[in-house]
Amino acid sequence: MIDNLNDLYQEVILDHSRHPRNYQKLAKANREAHGHNPLCGDQLTVYVQLDGDRIRDISFEGSGCAISKAAASVMTTLLKGKTSQEARDLFSRFHHMVTEGHYQECEHCKLAAFAGVHKFPARVKCAMLPWRTLEASLADKPSAVSTE
Ligand code: ZN
Repeated sequence: MIDNLNDLYQEVILDHSRHPRNYQKLAKANREAHGHNPLCGDQLTVYVQLDGDRIRDISFEGSGCAISKAAASVMTTLLKGKTSQEARDLFSRFHHMVTEGHYQECEHCKLAAFAGVHKFPARVKCAMLPWRTLEASLADKPSAVSTE
C-alpha cells in the first residue's frame, strides 16, 4: 500500500516536471521574483497577478531539476484564486512536510507527493525554492532569493 502510494507520488512529480503547468511569463503580472538555488543550479522566476489580496493568476519560468520544476508547477495549480494569507499557510505546511516528512490529510494530495523529499536534505532546497520565491514576490521584494 505504502509502496503504491510512493509510486503515485513519484508519478505526480514526473508528470509535473515533464509537463509543467502555468509555465509562461505572465503578461498581467504585477508581482514577480527570481529565485536561485546554487547548490543544484535551479533558477526560476515566479509571476503573480495580485488582485487586492487575491492571487488571480500565477505562473513561472526557469530551469532546474525535476523536483524544483514539479514543485513550482504544483504550487501554481494550487494557489490560483487563493488569498496571500492562504498561500502563506500552504507555504508553511509544505515546509513542514518536506522537512519532517509527514502530512495529516489528503486535502492537498499533490503536495503530499513531496513528503519523500525530507529524506534528501539537499533536495529540500529544490522543493522549497519556488515557495520561497513566491513569498518574496508576495512581500514585494523583487531582489533575488537564494537558498544559500
Ligand atoms: Zn534542484
